Amino acid sequence: MDIDWIGWKRALIDLFFPGDCPICKRAAYLDDVSFACLSCLDEVAWIRGARCKFCGVGMDGMEYAGLTCKNCRERTPLFQGGRSLFHLNPAGRSIIHEIKYQGNKRILEDISFFLERAPGFLDFITGTVLIPVPLHRKKLNKRTYNQSLWIAKALAKEAGISTVVYDCLIRTRHTPSQTKLDREQRQKNMKNAFALKQGTCLDGFHRAVLVDDVYTTGATLDACAKALIDSGFGQVEVATLGHG
Ligand SMILES: [Zn+2]
Ligand SMILES: [Zn+2]
Repeated sequence: MDIDWIGWKRALIDLFFPGDCPICKRAAYLDDVSFACLSCLDEVAWIRGARCKFCGVGMDGMEYAGLTCKNCRERTPLFQGGRSLFHLNPAGRSIIHEIKYQGNKRILEDISFFLERAPGFLDFITGTVLIPVPLHRKKLNKRTYNQSLWIAKALAKEAGISTVVYDCLIRTRHTPSQTKLDREQRQKNMKNAFALKQGTCLDGFHRAVLVDDVYTTGATLDACAKALIDSGFGQVEVATLGHG
C-alpha cells in the first residue's frame, strides 16, 4: 500500500502549526518547500548591489568597498562594517513582526531562501563569531526569548561549522523604549548599556559580527561594539535582517 507521506506531513503540520505565510497570511507550506510563500518572499525589498559599508543600507550607484551612507558619514560607527538582508517595506516588516512580537521562530526556517536573495550576506558572516544583541533580564523574562539569538543561530546553521554563536553580551541597564527617541537621544540612552559576561573569552576569533533583528539608527549595535572594543577585541561588524 502506498502511504501518502506528504499528505500526512501536511496534516500534522496543520494540526500542530496552523501556520500561515507571515506575509500574505495564507497557508503557504503547501508547496512543501518554504514556510512563507516564495512569491511573498519576492515582495521583500532584498538588498542587492551597492550598499553602505557600515550599516548595509542599499544605495544607488556603483558598487565599491568604501561606499558610505549619509547617516554613517555624519557619525561614523565604531563597528567596521555591516550587512542587512532587506529594507523594511511591508513584507519585510511582517517578517520582523512575526519573529519579534509573535515569537514565531518558524519563519527562520526559510533563512536559506533569505540568503539566496541577498548575495554576499552568507560570505560576510561565514567564519565569524556571531554575537546576538542581548535583552535586559527583565525584558527577557517577559518576552521569554531573544529574537536576536534565534536569528544568530539560524544564520550560523547556514554558514556551517566555521561560524559560531556566542551569547556573551549582557545588557547592564534596563533602557527605556527607544521608539520615540531620535538618533542622538538613542545614543545617550544606550551609553554603557552593555558589557561582556564574566569569563567571556574571544581568543581564536578574528571577526565578531553582532546580530540584531533590525538596524534603525545603529545606536544599540554601536553600544554593543563598544563593549567588545573596550575589552580589546578590535574587529567588530554587524548583521541584521531588516534595515529601516
Ligand atoms: Zn504568502
Ligand atoms: Zn550607513
